[in-house]
Amino acid sequence: MPLITITGLPTSGKSTRARQLHAYLAARIAALPSPNTQTPTSTSNQPKPKPPYNLHLISDDTLSIPRTVYDLSPAQLPAHVRSANASEKDARAAAFGAVKRVLSPRDIVVLDGLNYIKGWRYQLYCEAKNLSTPSCVLQVGGGRERARGVNEGRLERRKLRGEGEGKGEGEENGEKKAEDENNDDVDDTEPYEPASWENLVFRYEEPNPMARWDSPLFTLIWEDDEAQTKEVFDKIWDTIAGEGRKLVRPNQ
Ligand code: ADP
Repeated sequence: MPLITITGLPTSGKSTRARQLHAYLAARIAALPSPNTQTPTSTSNQPKPKPPYNLHLISDDTLSIPRTVYDLSPAQLPAHVRSANASEKDARAAAFGAVKRVLSPRDIVVLDGLNYIKGWRYQLYCEAKNLSTPSCVLQVGGGRERARGVNEGRLERRKLRGEGEGKGEGEENGEKKAEDENNDDVDDTEPYEPASWENLVFRYEEPNPMARWDSPLFTLIWEDDEAQTKEVFDKIWDTIAGEGRKLVRPNQ
C-alpha cells in the first residue's frame, strides 16, 4: 500500500502521527531481508544492498508550503467560492507533483496534510491505481476543541515571538523542524489564522470507509497510546508489505 494519505482537522496531531508512522515504517523496512543480498556474509567491498522499499514523507513542511496558502479572507469572499482559493490549489498541485515523482510499487509515500477534500483524495487514489499500487487513508482525530486550543497556543506563541500575520514565514522552517524533532516540548510551528482554521474545519470532508478512495481507512485518536498506535501501524504494514502483499519485484 505504497500511498498512505493522512487526513484530519487542522492542528489535530497529523504531523505527530505521520512522524511516528514514518519512524515505524523505516524500522520495519530496515528489518526486511534485502532482495539483492546474495550471501549472508557481505564484505565492505560489496555494494550496499538496496532496501526492498524506499520511504518518503511528504508534507506542507517538506514542500515549504506556508499555512498562509489556506488564508481565504472570508470577509471578502462568499462561502461558495472559498474552495476555489488559488494558492491552496497551487499547494495541492505541488503536493500531487511530489507524490507522482516518487510513488511506485517500491516506494512507500506517507502524505501528511489536511487532505480534507474528498475529490482530492479520489485524485490521489486514482494516481496510485494508475501505478498499480494500493493506497490507504489514516485519519487522525484529535477533537475539534483540542485542535482549536493547539492552534490558539501556536498563535499566542507567535505573538510572544513578535511575529505577526505574514511575518516569519518559511525562514524558520528548517530550524523549526530540527528543533521540533529534537525537543518535543517546543512547539513553534506556524499557526493558521483563526478564520482560516475555522473555515478549514467547516469544509472538512470526513473520510468514508465505504468509498473506495478512502479505504482501507485506519483511525488514530489523540488518546491512543503507544500500544494502540503500534497495533494500527502493524495493520497498515500488514496490508502494505505483510502476508497480504508479497515483496515487490524490480519490474513490478
Ligand atoms: P497537525 O499536524 O495536525 O497540525 P501536530 O502533529 O503538529 O498537528 O500536533 C499539534 C500539537 O499537538 C503538537 O504540539 C504535538 O506535540 C501535540 N500532539 C499531537 N498529537 C498528540 C497526541 N496524540 N498526544 C499528545 N500531544 C499531541
